[in-house]
Amino acid sequence: MRARQARGAAAAAVPAAPAPPPGEVDADRLVAQLRQPVWVFDIDRKRVAWANPAALALWSSPSLAELTARDMGADMSASVAARLAQYQSDFVGHGASFNEQWTLYPAGRPVSLDVTFSGYRLPDGRMAMMCEGRPPGSERPESLRSVEALLHTPVMITLYTPEGQPVYRNPAARASVPELRTTLAERFPEPDALPRLTDPLATRGATTLTLQARTAQGARWHEVSVQRCVDAVSGEAALLVSEVDVTRLKESEAQARFLAAHDVLTGLPNRSQVKQCFAEATSALRTRDQQAALILIDLDHFKKVNDTLGHAVGDELLIEVASRLRQSVRRGDLASRFGGDEFLLLVLSSDIRAEVDRIDKRIRDAVAQPLWVGNTQVQVTATLGVSLYPEHGTDFETLLQHADLAMYAAKERGRNALAYFEHDMGESFRQRTALEVDLRSACERREFEVHYQPRVEVASNRIVGAEALVRWRHPRRGLVPPGEFIALCESTGLISEVGRQVLASVVEQLRRWSEAGLALPVSVNLSPREFADPDLAERVRATLAEAGCAPELLQMEITESMLLGGEERPLATLHALRKLGVSIALDDFGTGYSNLAYLQRFPIGTLKIDRSFIQAVGDDQRLAELIVQLCRVMRLDAVAEGVETPEQLAWIRERGVAQYQGFLFARPLSAGEFEAMLSAQPGRAACG
Ligand code: C2E
Ligand code: MG
Ligand code: MG
Repeated sequence: MRARQARGAAAAAVPAAPAPPPGEVDADRLVAQLRQPVWVFDIDRKRVAWANPAALALWSSPSLAELTARDMGADMSASVAARLAQYQSDFVGHGASFNEQWTLYPAGRPVSLDVTFSGYRLPDGRMAMMCEGRPPGSERPESLRSVEALLHTPVMITLYTPEGQPVYRNPAARASVPELRTTLAERFPEPDALPRLTDPLATRGATTLTLQARTAQGARWHEVSVQRCVDAVSGEAALLVSEVDVTRLKESEAQARFLAAHDVLTGLPNRSQVKQCFAEATSALRTRDQQAALILIDLDHFKKVNDTLGHAVGDELLIEVASRLRQSVRRGDLASRFGGDEFLLLVLSSDIRAEVDRIDKRIRDAVAQPLWVGNTQVQVTATLGVSLYPEHGTDFETLLQHADLAMYAAKERGRNALAYFEHDMGESFRQRTALEVDLRSACERREFEVHYQPRVEVASNRIVGAEALVRWRHPRRGLVPPGEFIALCESTGLISEVGRQVLASVVEQLRRWSEAGLALPVSVNLSPREFADPDLAERVRATLAEAGCAPELLQMEITESMLLGGEERPLATLHALRKLGVSIALDDFGTGYSNLAYLQRFPIGTLKIDRSFIQAVGDDQRLAELIVQLCRVMRLDAVAEGVETPEQLAWIRERGVAQYQGFLFARPLSAGEFEAMLSAQPGRAACG
């Protein structure tokens, strides 16, 4: 209610009062004669509703009409407006009245006075504020300023009796308490808050604590300072309590603590949290005859989900898996996200292996449930590595390393499996690391060579093509077969370079054979990682062009698993290859999903029947029969792999399989040996 602007400064004109009935006190005249300024302020409209002559003089107003027309809200600060609204509700709710020292600016000059505020119902029922002014005492400027500060500060200041009954509250404190009569004990509802605040006062001057306070706005966090003092009015002992709202700070502190201990994406605890829990749990285990297990969980082929369906789907999958894992562990166990697609569980039990086996089953069932992201169905499996405390180590880092080795071993065994740590895993890990180092230098030194296994026409027993199979010419170990290094190349990414070298070598060889009149088709194996490379077709085109090799001579072998998990990318890659003139063979047919409807959508020209079916001939050959029939239904060229005996050859011949590969005819041969065999063939190669 600061009226800063200068308004009409004329002295107040006291209106003439009509004569009262004889014998009665004339209330209007009485009010007109009052030397104390009294006015009624309409809080809703921010205007004076009524004023006595002394108040008109105080406000430097020539008439009641002029004063009531003034818009006091025009330059009213937000804090004053909020306080007035608070007063209004205090008048309504508690019939409160307050004394405050105010400074008004009726003609631009400050006028200080003590004002008593109380509620006054207007004729229309709304609650207004009656203000009674008194000239202030002889306060010095400092005390005037400190009164102003007390009124305007957001710090909540309350004077209590030593028993905790409120004596005075500043406006900020009044706005905060649920009830004006709220005692100190009611203000801070934690059971021991009061003694914690007041007990230390016997020895110390003041206490400061952060406590939960009951406020009109609900529970908030306040930093509370209490000190002993003397009530300046009564001279009696009192407690001065000041409070600052620190809720935001407290919340961000809690959030920072949460973030430090949790993974942002899934909300699961993070690695550092597990480490801490591990330390606490294991120190308790010693007395409880229990064991602990660290279970490292890795989602199989998660990278493929990310690469083919995008990171948003990948994130969605991680969130879902996290929630399923959370539900798979018992209370007291801990599920955490370790990073990337890895999760870590801490499990305690008196029969730890039995418990781990139960969890393994629960996790496998939980993870196997398909997940729908939009219209895409995603399904994953998980590989688990387990190390036990104290059997496999007693400190967290060692156990973690051991769980990691176990998981690696489980992956090697074909994924979707669980492995416990075994002590020789460390050794095989070291070997693998050494092999990786060796392979890197093999790439640089170009130690890979390509061998060719003849592909033979069943009817004529003539070579009609070949499969290119890589070998590693190791400086000490001699010729190393691909089974010993392709998987590691795939998992380390070295396969891109190996594949590049193989392809370059094959197309170069094909061109030379063509020039020598030995043109025949050769197939090259692709690994999943190579097939997923979006630049594959372009790379193949450039390699063919550089060597000057006819694309029709080249065939690419892929496996069914590479076609899963989103059709668009594989389909686009296959079409791009077909467009070049390169043909496609489906390798190891029968070992995958063999979903015909699905396979027919892809431009595949040849099916290579996996050798496991051919070698079952003579034993249980029902599956082999079925696979051969599938090839026929698909109307695709069929090549039987791994034909080792004349019986197997007779069997495929009877069933109309057109071509075969196998040791019966020849093992994979060096380029020179193969060329010699081809040249010796009567009538040379039959281009098939
Ligand atoms: P694959 O593509 O199924 O190749 C056929 C494998 O069966 C070859 O093993 C071959 O030597 C073997 N094989 C052929 N005939 C017979 C037989 O009558 N009996 C038996 N028991 N085995 C026979 P290899 O050369 O050891 O290759 C193994 C696998 O390594 C290949 O399986 C292929 O998946 C992969 N591979 C080979 N070369 C490459 C390559 O250049 N790149 C990629 N990504 N993978 C390759
Ligand atoms: Mg193959
Ligand atoms: Mg094969």
